[in-house]
Amino acid sequence: MARPFNFSAGPAVLPEPVLARAAAEMLDWHGSGMSVMEMSHRGREFGEIFAHAHDSFRRLMGVPANYKVLFMQGGGIGENAIVPLNLIGRTGKADFVVTGSWSAKSAKEASRYGNVQLVAPQAVDRPGQPRYVGIPDPATWNVRPDAAYLHLCGNETIDGVEFFDWPQPAALGAPDVPLVVDVSSHILSRPLSFEGVGLMFGGAQKNIGPAGLTIVVVREDLLGHALPVCPSAFDYATVAANGSMYNTPPTYAIYIAGLVFDWIDAQGGVQALAERNAAKAALLYACLDASGFYRNAVAPACRSRMNVPFFLADERLNDAFLTGAKEAGLLQLKGHKSVGGMRASLYNAMPLDGVHALVSYLQDFERRHA
Ligand code: PMP
Repeated sequence: MARPFNFSAGPAVLPEPVLARAAAEMLDWHGSGMSVMEMSHRGREFGEIFAHAHDSFRRLMGVPANYKVLFMQGGGIGENAIVPLNLIGRTGKADFVVTGSWSAKSAKEASRYGNVQLVAPQAVDRPGQPRYVGIPDPATWNVRPDAAYLHLCGNETIDGVEFFDWPQPAALGAPDVPLVVDVSSHILSRPLSFEGVGLMFGGAQKNIGPAGLTIVVVREDLLGHALPVCPSAFDYATVAANGSMYNTPPTYAIYIAGLVFDWIDAQGGVQALAERNAAKAALLYACLDASGFYRNAVAPACRSRMNVPFFLADERLNDAFLTGAKEAGLLQLKGHKSVGGMRASLYNAMPLDGVHALVSYLQDFERRHA
């Protein structure tokens, strides 16, 4: 029987062939007599699994040779501290552009470790509107040329605001300031550029695999500046020098990530997924925009292709909407508690058919309730 379509923002839907293969290999991985969960991270078998996941990721992301890929723990929220612990010490200052809830959280956490400045004024609350609905014009950003880095969130999972190009430090009047990009919720959804980027980080639980694995891609010249209080297990230089095996890495999550990378290859690679993701998002936004019954408030140029928050004009219908959706096999459409409403996440593993099914349900619900 077909499984329902799962629109969770994360942990999120995974490709069914990946789950089936993990199930088939659960008790005995490739004749080893062990589950992947039971293997030493330093043994030959896991060494193979690790190298496959690491090499596939580098290739799919097009990571340039002068960057390290680190498989860590701690998640995106952990990185909110781990990044400044590693990077802010170079100058003591870091700049942030806030385009949503996650970048706001990152800035707040970093301020525990150094001098933090927002490069544009904070979005203000307006009655009846979600708080974050766009990206402040980069021409107005006030980036300090001696900031240790400029942080931005590539895709705001809660608010549905996405950068489609990174503003370049040179054009911002700060040529020596590397970008730090939180790519948790759009990693591998399309090709991402390393131009101007010092570091990207992302939790795995949206496009890559189970929660527990955090991937960091860091330019080599940024290693070795950790604050003395930085825990050894979170010092990028230590993690890099030990091939992500300074402590026990999240072995099972890395194994699943490797299977997801195989699945991406089978889909035709990241570019093929990008085209499919663009089509999925266009379909859903067209449906929302054509309706006076639903509303997405984000400026069209920065509407996320991964997370689509939307609101019913009559919020008293929210519960009926969610109950009906579940009955129709459309799961986890409830919006984040901080903004309310609904949210449909369209990660790589969500097929176009799932978006067609959602659009049919949206139109049907509107006909019955408008
Ligand atoms: N950054 C972004 C963009 C996210 O979407 C999330 C999780 N939804 C986080 C950071 C935090 O991730 P975690 O809960 O794994 O720490």
